[in-house]
Amino acid sequence: MEVQGEILKPERRFQGVAVSPGIARGLAWIHRAEEETAPHYHIREEEVAAELRRFEVALLKTRLQIQEMQSRISDSVGSSDAGIFDAHLLVVEDRTVIDEVVRTIKRDRLNVEAVFAQVTGRYIKVLGEIDDPYLRERAVDIHDVCRRVMRNLSGKENREWTEAGESHVLISHNLTPSDTAQLNRRFVLGFATDVGSKTSHTAIMARSLNIPAVVALHDISEDVASGDFVLLDGYNGLVILNPSPETLQHYSVLEAQKGEIEQELRALRETECKTPDGRHITLSANIEMPDDVPLVLNSGAEGVGLFRTEFFYINRLDLPDEELQYAAYRSVVEKLVPDSVIVRTLDLGGDKIMSSLNLPTEMNPFLGWRAIRFCLERVDVFKTQLRAILRASAHGNVRIMYPMISGVDEVRRANAILEECRQELRREGKPFAEKIEVGAMIEIPSAALSADLIAPEVDFFSIGTNDLIQYSIAVDRLNEHIAYLYEPTHPAIVRLIRMVVDAGHAHKIWIGVCGEMAGDVVLTPLLLGLGVDELSTGFAHVPRVKRAVQSLNLSVCLKLVDEIKNIDSPTAIYAACEKVAREYYADLL
Ligand code: PEP
Ligand code: MG
Repeated sequence: MEVQGEILKPERRFQGVAVSPGIARGLAWIHRAEEETAPHYHIREEEVAAELRRFEVALLKTRLQIQEMQSRISDSVGSSDAGIFDAHLLVVEDRTVIDEVVRTIKRDRLNVEAVFAQVTGRYIKVLGEIDDPYLRERAVDIHDVCRRVMRNLSGKENREWTEAGESHVLISHNLTPSDTAQLNRRFVLGFATDVGSKTSHTAIMARSLNIPAVVALHDISEDVASGDFVLLDGYNGLVILNPSPETLQHYSVLEAQKGEIEQELRALRETECKTPDGRHITLSANIEMPDDVPLVLNSGAEGVGLFRTEFFYINRLDLPDEELQYAAYRSVVEKLVPDSVIVRTLDLGGDKIMSSLNLPTEMNPFLGWRAIRFCLERVDVFKTQLRAILRASAHGNVRIMYPMISGVDEVRRANAILEECRQELRREGKPFAEKIEVGAMIEIPSAALSADLIAPEVDFFSIGTNDLIQYSIAVDRLNEHIAYLYEPTHPAIVRLIRMVVDAGHAHKIWIGVCGEMAGDVVLTPLLLGLGVDELSTGFAHVPRVKRAVQSLNLSVCLKLVDEIKNIDSPTAIYAACEKVAREYYADLL
C-alpha cells in the first residue's frame, strides 16, 4: 500500500553508466560515509562523572555488538574467520587505553569523544608506523573499534549498512571493492552510486555477485532518500525515482523478454564454443570468490581463466595463511576438474587495498607498489600464496598467472621464487603437480611491446585489457570524467593486442583475453580476428559470448580486422565491429 502511494509522486529519471545487468525495484536505502571528525568541547567539573558513565556505556555496548557479530559470523562461515573479532574485544578491554582516556577526561575536562579520538589516534599512528606486521594489524583493530565506539557515543544507530535487514536498493556516494564484497545478496536488490566506472573492481564485483548496478549518477545519494521507491535498470544505466505505472509495466515486459533470451542461452551450456568454420575458442570464466564456482559450472564455461585472489585479502585484518588459501584453491580446483583454473597471484593495490597491510598512501596508486611489485618485495606473502596454489595443483588442473608484469625480469624473479617453493614442498613431502603452466598477464604497454622477450619464459599470455587500456591511453579506469577516453577500440589498443598475439604465437604459446573486453559481444569478431585463443569473462556473459562465437565464421572476423587496419578513429572501429555483430546476432545486442 505504501508503495502505491509513492507511485503517485512524479517520476524522476537519473542517467548513469550501466555496470551490471538486471532490473531491481524496491525501497532505497541510502548509505552515507560516517562522520569522521569527533566533536570537541569542554565540560564542567560536575559533568565529569556523567561523561565517564557515557564512556562506560559505549564500551559495554561495543563489546556486546562485537560478541553478537562474532557469533553470527561463526555460525555462517566458521569460527576461524570469527576469530578476528577476538582482537577487537581486546581493544575494548585494553586497560592502558581506557585508563588514559579516563585520566584525560578528569584532567582536561574534555568530552569523551575528543579524548577517545585523541588517545586512540596516537596509538593508531605509533603502531601503524612500526615495522612489524602484527603491531600494524593491531592499529587497524583499534581504528575499527574506535569508529564503533564513536558511533555508540554519538547515539546514532550503529547498524552496519551491509546489515540492513530488509530488501533494498542500496544508494551510496561510492562503494569500495571491499564494501561490495560484503554486500548481502539476500537483501541488496541492486546498487547505485554517485561516482564509479565500468571497469572498476566494484563494478566487476557487482557482475560477479549478479547484482544489478548503475554508477556515475552524480548526486543520486543526495536526491533520493531512504524509503523512496526506485527502479534500477542495470541494462541502460538508469535509476527511476517513483516509477509511474506505465514505466513499471514497460519493465515487466522487458524482464520477460530478457528472461526468454536467457533461457535460450542456457540451452547452449553443453555445446562447444566453436565458429561454424571450425575455430575452437576456449571460453572460460573470471571469478572472485570460491562461492562463484557453481555459477561457472552453470554457465557452460570451460574452466576459470582468471581467479582474482585478492578478495581473500581485502576484507580481513590478518593475512590469510597457507592452509586457508590451500583449502580455498583446492575446493575450486576439485569442482572444476578436468577443466583448468588459472589462479592469478595477488594483485593488491590500485583500488584494492588491504587495510591491515598498511600500504603507504600513494599519489598514483595504479602506478605504484602493487601486484607483482609488492609480491617480489614481500616474498613471505608471495611464497605463502604460491605454496598454497602449488599444493592445490595436486587435486586438479591448475595454472598460475602473474599480474602487472612490466618486463621479463619480473617473470624470471617470480619463477625463481616459484621454483624455491617447489623445492621446499618436495623436501616437506607435500604433493603438487610437476607440470603446471605459468603465464604472464599482459596489461602494461611495456609488456605488450616486449611480449616477444617475455614469451620464452612462460606458457601463455592473458591480456588484461582493463589495465592495458588504462595505461596505454593514460586514462584512470575509475574516473568518470574521462570515461569517454577509455576506448577498447582505440587503434593503439588494437595494435597492441595484435602485437601480443603475434609474438606469443611465434613462440608457440597461447593467448587469452581476461579483461572486460572479452565479455562484450560487439568486440568478439575483433578479438577472434586478431587471433586470440581464449576468452575469459564474467560467468554472466559466458552464454552470450558462446552464442556470438557460434554465429561467426572466422573468415568474417579476419576480414573485419583487415578492414579496420586503415581506420583511425576508435568510434569508427567500434561501429565496424558492431555492424558485424548486428548482422550475425542482433538479438544479443
Ligand atoms: C585487467 O586489467 O584487464 C584484468 C583482468 O585485471 P583487473 O581487472 O583485476 O585489474
Ligand atoms: Mg589488471
